[in-house]
Amino acid sequence: MKIGIIGGGAAGLVAAIYAKTEENEVIIFEKKDSCAKKILMTGNGRCNYWNENQEKRHYHSENPEIVKEIMTEENAQEVLSFFDMLGVVSKIKNGYYYPYSNQASTIKTLLLKEIERKKIETKENFEVDEIEKKGNHFLIKSKEEEWEVDRVILATGSSASLREKDNNGYRVAQSFGHNILPLVPSLVPLVSARKDLKKWAGVRSNAIVSLWVEDQCYGTEEGELQWTEDGLSGICIFNLSGMASKALSLGQKVSIKIQWMPWLRSVEEGRDWFDDKKRNTHPLENVLVGFLNPKLIEILLKTAMVSKNQSWKALTEEEKNRVLNVLFSLEIPISKTKSLERAQVCKGGIPLSEIVPSTMESKKEKGLYMVGELLDVDGDCGGYNLGFAWTTGMLAGKGVRK
Ligand SMILES: Cc1cc2nc3c(=O)[nH]c(=O)nc-3n(C[C@H](O)[C@H](O)[C@H](O)COP(=O)(O)OP(=O)(O)OC[C@H]3O[C@@H](n4cnc5c(N)ncnc54)[C@H](O)[C@@H]3O)c2cc1C
Repeated sequence: MKIGIIGGGAAGLVAAIYAKTEENEVIIFEKKDSCAKKILMTGNGRCNYWNENQEKRHYHSENPEIVKEIMTEENAQEVLSFFDMLGVVSKIKNGYYYPYSNQASTIKTLLLKEIERKKIETKENFEVDEIEKKGNHFLIKSKEEEWEVDRVILATGSSASLREKDNNGYRVAQSFGHNILPLVPSLVPLVSARKDLKKWAGVRSNAIVSLWVEDQCYGTEEGELQWTEDGLSGICIFNLSGMASKALSLGQKVSIKIQWMPWLRSVEEGRDWFDDKKRNTHPLENVLVGFLNPKLIEILLKTAMVSKNQSWKALTEEEKNRVLNVLFSLEIPISKTKSLERAQVCKGGIPLSEIVPSTMESKKEKGLYMVGELLDVDGDCGGYNLGFAWTTGMLAGKGVRK
């Protein structure tokens, strides 16, 4: 049997390694001049390739019950054994897996060495334009060439982080009758129309941030918030950005509320904290500088309409409420997200309901399999997106042999 893998990224390479047997010939068609290029960009060049915490809330999809069938404990063990087999020594930090070398190139090199060892053919600079079913075979076509194979694994990823808008993978899937759920950026900075944010650019602060859509809280994250020229960034924002993107694409009102004192859990605790004799007679500026960047203090107190030289004790009840409101739920309206080109992943894609989760085979076309980010699953920061790519690649590679 001849198996064609479209895309030599994370999912495609693992699929190829699993699909190759003595009897099966495997060819990877990759549009770039080498495979696994994106892997080098991951985890700031360190490749955060897995996460110990496999709670399903870290994966987002229109079909969360199918995600559970794919990301099982058994499959997780198999993926980790696979990396062990490749020779990857892991370093685990707060549950995040990295190669011990701290270099994404370790993962790329070991995957490509296995591709070579298994004598899997790679055809670089081959952009698949179209796939046609001819009897029991598939014709894989670029603008210049065509190849005939018996089975196809579509592993073209998404358009996230790429300059080119078009991703042929979606078009190929559509040509076999698949639907595409709306594609929007995820793990991406948010943009606000608020004009004074420029002053905060570059500032980082620990905070609890929550995403509000219309008048409903859609999610809360705690972590380091980063201020940009025109909005917000940081892992905590990235993890909320997919939901924000989707809501914005539906024309809904989106905002981020910020709680600047994450070690306290309620406004009442905040009031007690300021009431404490240790600090209630000190100028507010001196109290706030203990946990906030001076640039933030100025704007926050201006928003609360109180002077930085006043003490908490000297404030009226109304002023105290305004300070607490700004410190516990400052609202930043969000007008858009940065583009797909600036996003790490893409939300949306081929619905999981259109594939068989145990093998990743298409329910629309026998012999066609689909894996990785092309599917409607986007994960949080922390190794979930690569985790999904490896797992689905492994399932398809095994599935194609059946
Ligand atoms: C900056 C950045 C950092 C990231 N960091 C992490 C991280 O630390 N941890 C994590 O889990 N995830 C991370 N991600 C997300 C992760 O990289 C992706 O989710 C993952 O690579 C998806 O794997 P894939 O195989 O589905 O797609 P890809 O890795 O994108 O591979 C698809 C391949 O298909 C090729 N291709 C596309 N179309 C065609 C065609 N028509 N013909 C031939 N070839 C084609 C592409 O050139 C590419 O090589 C990061 C993403 C970015 C952009």
